[in-house]
Amino acid sequence: MPSEHLNVEMTFDINNPFYLTAVSWQSEEPFLRIQAQRDNSTTFVKAQNLFLRFRVMANQPRRCIGRIKRTEEGSSHQECDSVPTSGRYCAKCQTAENVNAANMHHAHRRGRAEIDKTMKAYLSHPHRLYLAAFRDGSIKVGTTRGSSGNTRLIEQGAWLATYVAEVEDGFAVRELEDEITEQLGVIQAVDTRRKILGHLNYLSNQELAQSLLQMSSETEKVLRERLGTRGSLIDEPWYNPMVDAEVWGNLAPYPGSIKEGAHELTIHSMVGRLAACHKTGFSDTFLVDTQSLLTLPLETGTFEVDELALQESLF
Ligand SMILES: [Zn+2]
Repeated sequence: MPSEHLNVEMTFDINNPFYLTAVSWQSEEPFLRIQAQRDNSTTFVKAQNLFLRFRVMANQPRRCIGRIKRTEEGSSHQECDSVPTSGRYCAKCQTAENVNAANMHHAHRRGRAEIDKTMKAYLSHPHRLYLAAFRDGSIKVGTTRGSSGNTRLIEQGAWLATYVAEVEDGFAVRELEDEITEQLGVIQAVDTRRKILGHLNYLSNQELAQSLLQMSSETEKVLRERLGTRGSLIDEPWYNPMVDAEVWGNLAPYPGSIKEGAHELTIHSMVGRLAACHKTGFSDTFLVDTQSLLTLPLETGTFEVDELALQESLF
């Protein structure tokens, strides 16, 4: 559980301008993490059924989304008020994120002695190895800290998954993860483009379950040889809460760019950072990538919203 100070707003009542800094999951429910420009305060707004009328402000600076702070207890978010230099981060946060990523990635290769003390403490904790299936048919192998909770799976927008093994620490689990990739060719990341295309043109849950089952049994075979005394096989299934939701079975791409202009949407539900949205006057449910809004100065209000150029995309 992230140690973020949880201040949940059930209605969208925030000082303008504000920034979306993340989609944050708590008990498998999505919240938008919002940072007010005025005092940098952070608010969590429940995303499900959220009515959102917002405008991207042209005359305000963008803002860095901040960085992850890892400690022995877990990870938490550190706000930042700098302007991003490239992408989503300022130079300082980008460096911190790069160091985090490199430490995580090379934890086992460099050896425990060479890892930063905080990261070492963070990794000296049981981890689980999982296989996750996405709706385009991609299957990835991944690891998550702790022996309970499904935050990693749900924040990535996995559709079906299997926890294959529980392993004594973050060093050993990464070795095994690389072993699975090497021996079975299972990838370790699925890009958002594939996730989006998967929702618009998906394989059935049954097809996905079948290929996940097959890959899980191959993975177990490898682990039986490699795991030793460092952990145990668990074979625990997981499903995204939206797996049977009708609205995720019939989505249309959002016919416009939410990076500019004024928009009015109601978020029906979310899978990872992707939102299924309703819009008054339209029967379609639109797929929106909320990550497009990161760093942008936003405001709410009663202004007119942009007309969607639906004719162009549908006829
Ligand atoms: Zn920053």
